Amino acid sequence: MKKSPVTRIVSLAVVFNAVILQVVARGQYPSASGGQWYSPGTATSGNPGNKRGVDDTCERLSYNVNQNNLTILNGDIVFGQYDDFVKQFHILSQPSFVYPNTIDQQHNHHYRRALHPRDTPQLWPDAKIVYKYYSDEVKSKVGPYVLEAIERWHLKSPFLKFEEVNASCDEVPGQLTITSIDCGGCNANLGYSSTKPLYMNLQQSSECKAPGLSHTGCYTDDATHLFGHVVGLNHQTGRVDRDEHQVFNCKNLVDYDPKKPENCHDEECMGWACTFRVDKKKQVCGPYDIESVMQFAHDLFSKPETSTLDDKRDTGEHLPRYNVPFPTSLDSIQVCDLYPSQCTGFCGNGIVDPGEECDTGTNHYTDGCTPACKSYNYKKEHH
Ligand SMILES: [Zn+2]
Repeated sequence: MKKSPVTRIVSLAVVFNAVILQVVARGQYPSASGGQWYSPGTATSGNPGNKRGVDDTCERLSYNVNQNNLTILNGDIVFGQYDDFVKQFHILSQPSFVYPNTIDQQHNHHYRRALHPRDTPQLWPDAKIVYKYYSDEVKSKVGPYVLEAIERWHLKSPFLKFEEVNASCDEVPGQLTITSIDCGGCNANLGYSSTKPLYMNLQQSSECKAPGLSHTGCYTDDATHLFGHVVGLNHQTGRVDRDEHQVFNCKNLVDYDPKKPENCHDEECMGWACTFRVDKKKQVCGPYDIESVMQFAHDLFSKPETSTLDDKRDTGEHLPRYNVPFPTSLDSIQVCDLYPSQCTGFCGNGIVDPGEECDTGTNHYTDGCTPACKSYNYKKEHH
């Protein structure tokens, strides 16, 4: 699926649905001059009013609510029903430009502590992802993108199992239901839950009535990123060592307010800036991978013709211009770390396992390894 830059940006930008989006799609939206940009709401898992002292559990994030009343965190991670969200998070601000009747303000009551976003996501039993389409119609629309995305993961992490069950709109805990709600954005749950139904939405190109809503679809690259979330991977950009590899330009965010520069502060972020928060308390494992499918593109949620993430000088690393299409070897290793008992020796995991002569983490002849992990002299054979 060939996509224009605008299509890619908007579909990556994963801005959704019922909440009106004013994600910037380079000249697509006339309100670019002077109008107020869409801003997501901000919530925290900690209690900022804790009188006993500093609450070190405080963790801010951005959120939206879609027309099915699902809360979407940090751009594209489905949390679950809004009713549950308000029980577990302290709402600091509502998204701007809220659809009437989308967010029930009455539910905005006292915060009760529960889940922390930084908690390790639950993992799929036996590394088997059970998924279904909401309907046969949805399957015919987005099935090809889903299958291609699964294939990409399967190539890098062959121990992952993807089991499709019959299409149905039933909400089944522990199963991923793939929907294609118009103007519902690209988003998915992070990891597994045995008690909650799980979702992935892949909106297709459609006429979204609300101004600012994304009209463009989510395709294979988006589905690949979202399956990363489903498996249990979070955004690379939230790693504590992020700033050693790129420069975050908060001022270029669509909802940056020059009168409130504090909105950019990591611990006191508001709006989209929270999506770029670095989680100082979460330990990271392995080197930073700027080519990861879980890395944000350079212009996520940016004003037109600007970037929110820039290359860091002298690192030799370059931010992706668009959504990264293929999981990298480091992505594969991250998945391996999540599922160590399933991720046993296989060719392409980057480890020379017994019986292998080499393993560079890829399965291309050009790397000197055959797909069977036997040494292969590429140059000799071809010159
Ligand atoms: Zn994401």
